[in-house]
Amino acid sequence: MLAEKYLTLYTKLTGRVDKSRIFHDPLSTLAFGADASFYKLTPKMVIKAIDENEVSFLLQECAKLSIPVTFRAAGTSLSGQSISDSVMIIIGEKWKKFQVLDNGKQIRMQPGLIGGKINAILAPYGRKIGPDPASINSATIGGIVANNASGMSSGTARNSTNTIESLRLVLIDGTILDTGNKKSKEEFLRSHPQFIEEIRSLATSTKNNSILADKIIKKYKIKNTTGYSINALIDFTDPFEIIEHLMIGSEGTLGFISEITLNTVILQPFRASALIIFPDLEKACTAVTILKSSPVTAVELIDRSGLLSIENDEGMPLFLKRLTGNACALLVETSAEIKTDLNKQIEIIVKNIEDIPTEFPYNFTDNPEEYNLYWKMRGGLFPAVGAMRKKGTTVIIEDVAFPINQLAAATMDLQKLLHKFAYRDAVIYGHALEGNLHFIFSQDFGIQAEVDKYEKLMLEVSDLVINKYDGSLKAEHGTGRNVAPFVKKEWGDEAYSLMEKIKTIFDPDNILNPGVILNPDSKIHLKNLKPIPVANDIIDKCIECGFCETSCVAAEMTLSPRQRIVVYREMVSLARSGQEPHIAASLAKSYSYAGNKTCATDGLCAVGCPVKIDTGKLIKCLRADEIGKKQNRALWLADRMGKVTVWARMGLSFVNFIHSILGTTVLFALAEGLRKILGNMIPYWTPYMPTGSKKIKSHNIQNPDNSRKVVYFPSCINRSMGVSKDYKDEIQLTEKVRQLILKAGFDIIYPDNMNNLCCGMAFSSKGYTITGEKKSNELEAALIKASNNGEYPVLCDMSPCLYTMKENMNSILKLYEPVEFISVYLLPYLVITPIDEVITVFPVCSMKKMGLDMKMVDLAKICATKVIVAETNCCGFAGDRGFFYPELNKHGLRNLKAQLPDSVKQGYSTSRTCEIGLSLHSGISYKSIVYLVDRVSSSKKTQTEKHHFKVEKY
Ligand SMILES: Cc1cc2nc3c(=O)[nH]c(=O)nc-3n(C[C@H](O)[C@H](O)[C@H](O)COP(=O)(O)OP(=O)(O)OC[C@H]3O[C@@H](n4cnc5c(N)ncnc54)[C@H](O)[C@@H]3O)c2cc1C
Ligand code: SF4
Ligand code: SF4
Repeated sequence: MLAEKYLTLYTKLTGRVDKSRIFHDPLSTLAFGADASFYKLTPKMVIKAIDENEVSFLLQECAKLSIPVTFRAAGTSLSGQSISDSVMIIIGEKWKKFQVLDNGKQIRMQPGLIGGKINAILAPYGRKIGPDPASINSATIGGIVANNASGMSSGTARNSTNTIESLRLVLIDGTILDTGNKKSKEEFLRSHPQFIEEIRSLATSTKNNSILADKIIKKYKIKNTTGYSINALIDFTDPFEIIEHLMIGSEGTLGFISEITLNTVILQPFRASALIIFPDLEKACTAVTILKSSPVTAVELIDRSGLLSIENDEGMPLFLKRLTGNACALLVETSAEIKTDLNKQIEIIVKNIEDIPTEFPYNFTDNPEEYNLYWKMRGGLFPAVGAMRKKGTTVIIEDVAFPINQLAAATMDLQKLLHKFAYRDAVIYGHALEGNLHFIFSQDFGIQAEVDKYEKLMLEVSDLVINKYDGSLKAEHGTGRNVAPFVKKEWGDEAYSLMEKIKTIFDPDNILNPGVILNPDSKIHLKNLKPIPVANDIIDKCIECGFCETSCVAAEMTLSPRQRIVVYREMVSLARSGQEPHIAASLAKSYSYAGNKTCATDGLCAVGCPVKIDTGKLIKCLRADEIGKKQNRALWLADRMGKVTVWARMGLSFVNFIHSILGTTVLFALAEGLRKILGNMIPYWTPYMPTGSKKIKSHNIQNPDNSRKVVYFPSCINRSMGVSKDYKDEIQLTEKVRQLILKAGFDIIYPDNMNNLCCGMAFSSKGYTITGEKKSNELEAALIKASNNGEYPVLCDMSPCLYTMKENMNSILKLYEPVEFISVYLLPYLVITPIDEVITVFPVCSMKKMGLDMKMVDLAKICATKVIVAETNCCGFAGDRGFFYPELNKHGLRNLKAQLPDSVKQGYSTSRTCEIGLSLHSGISYKSIVYLVDRVSSSKKTQTEKHHFKVEKY
């Protein structure tokens, strides 16, 4: 139940904001509340705002009631700045508009646009944004600017401070100010003279205070995100430029950023990298000092523990296992606009550091495969520690910066400190060129003695960084709650009081993200620590970073993978403690739909996850638990697979017959009416529903003289589903596949007892794991036999089934879905005459997970002159889930139609059920890519093959 003032707020808000965007139930508040930091607060109310005017209204209403507000973008912050125990305003889907300006030299954006997406937009112009946090594929531009985030190559020169053109802001009184608009500034001067005067006066007094001014200039020579960006007061005199720059790194405590215009930087097309191993840290740091004035774009340091943590990872260079005890690596990158410049730069770099001994000779490589491996290794450091940590512990990443000329001594001191406190798994690495080091370690917050140890460590780290080296306690991750107690220690009384004044000018009643950046509580960094209960092996390594959210079809509709994990952890914890039974019951009830039913179990979340967690597997586990002893029902059905397929065919044909008589509108209304009455017991009907398939001609065609043979396993879906109305005169897929294979001169072998076989996915995805395993084993045995112990390739016509087969079956089987099979085996024997049409392809999740999405595009490009690839994740059809929870499919494909120009007439994919949803939500007929290849190909017949080439008429 909401406290009184929140109830008043709720009543006020619902007059203007749609209730469906205001959340105060236990599941939503818990789920939206979690960020990547090791702090936990649960908001009382969460509002998904849709535009600037709405934010203005929300801020005014909260201010009237003195209710604190926190803004939340992607929630990847690490210092506890994007959490709240009051009102949280979410910047989601509706905040992704952008405008490329001046041929890519600038870009204007709404704050919800993801950094990686911005760079993809700018790439065709040969540009990118300056800030480059490692989280760029998840973090939003609003969060990047509000945290002044940076990364491996941005340093201080290309961060938001130095690449900002202008900002649009919403202040706590609801005023909207556009620092790039003359009229807006003039209006602001009239409406807020006092505000402007106070800013001017602060700037003047700071500039006139030479000791303070010198301190500020000195401290910003290295990266620094501790406290407010008070360099704005020194660097600028124009009050609007000062306001704009104070907003950078203000972590949602000064106002809301509703639009950002950044100057972009050149995307150098030529790159080369070298992994250089030095015998010790000191020599590596000496090299860093020299490299600072060499033509390098990034220099990353990795200490011995870091190298140890990744030496066994797949693809790592073997020499990593032969390093001496104190070895230290520098990963150096250089880039240029033209190749000759790149080569010259490499020569200069090598010459500059030739006097410093290395453990091995090294080379710069410009081969993307090789240098991507190095950068993958660097990117794997944080997850490596995250994955190795003891269950129930948190992984902490600290972020300090030292003056570069003292980097060696400071790093060694840091190492000693971590050893002193027995953080044995600690790894030091970072952006050495900027003196910016991260140290990661696992921390148990479940035991008070360990919390005390962390407190002592932080105290000694602050002494080391501030008192000994005059460095920064936070170089790029933002102050948050984590170093708020140390801001005064780092900056001193005068600068701290300046920061307090800034806060008062912008937010006199301390409504905006209170407690973040400035906090009088000297122990706030030890409060509200996030418990990480041991809950389930599948997700125990989750660091709640949120990197999985952008690839989840259900995110923004029900729960993202991170949110599924967060809520599940809470449910386990409450069940164990027996506390708050009403909350536990409410969570369980809501989770059934939001967590369980609307998970597509496609596993795309694992692709972007640094510790490779497939949250879908957790959900399958929960489904299996729910089914419990009812597994036998599925076993009964599975043993009658042949009959089930016949029933399915009959059912589909019957519905199709009704459709041909009643027409689409009446049948849709009837089917929906029945669904409403019977709940989810009957499937959702769409006009793209196929008729039942015809029985497959499964007689084997075998010519002993023909060495080209393939085992074709038609999936149970394609054995049941035939063509739909939009297929016009086309024949069913199983026959199309057969014709194409024969056209290329292959013999086809069908597995014995084919009609009873199934990959098992249809069962296991619903939790019938025993049945799923049984069917998979049966199919595996049949395929091993049919393929002569793996001699012949096996083709399955549905890529999701093929993926399941690859996951579960013996590696002697050479398993292929249509795209790879056609590309590898059939194309050499086919003549392709591309059609002059615009087509679209949709690589389904299994194709993305197998890394075959680009192969599919390549194949389509061979077959048609123009290929459009829409940007989507999973389509949300999820096997047959689209028939029972069609809202997930609708949500997954909500942006599809808008991305396809009218000229697109045909779509192609590799999964029959996904194609139904794709057709429905695009209005374009989607079919298997086999139809396209068959349409554009003819046989490359030779005399010797003629005798066995035979296409049967169906
Ligand atoms: C594994 C990992 C690696 C990381 N690597 C880096 C790195 O290399 N460099 C780096 O700098 N950071 C890094 N981060 C930290 C984090 O990803 C970045 O700071 C990122 O910019 C935060 O963006 P976000 O969209 O997640 O913002 P959020 O975390 O949602 O919000 C960030 C802050 O901005 C405020 N805010 C959000 N939107 C607005 C708005 N529109 N107006 C005003 N205030 C707003 C929030 O209240 C909060 O205080 C990393 C994080 C993780 C988990
Ligand atoms: S599942 Fe992976 S990507 Fe998602 S929050 Fe957890 S660790 Fe991060
Ligand atoms: S399996 Fe798919 S729907 Fe389920 S959490 Fe992962 S990405 Fe989201």
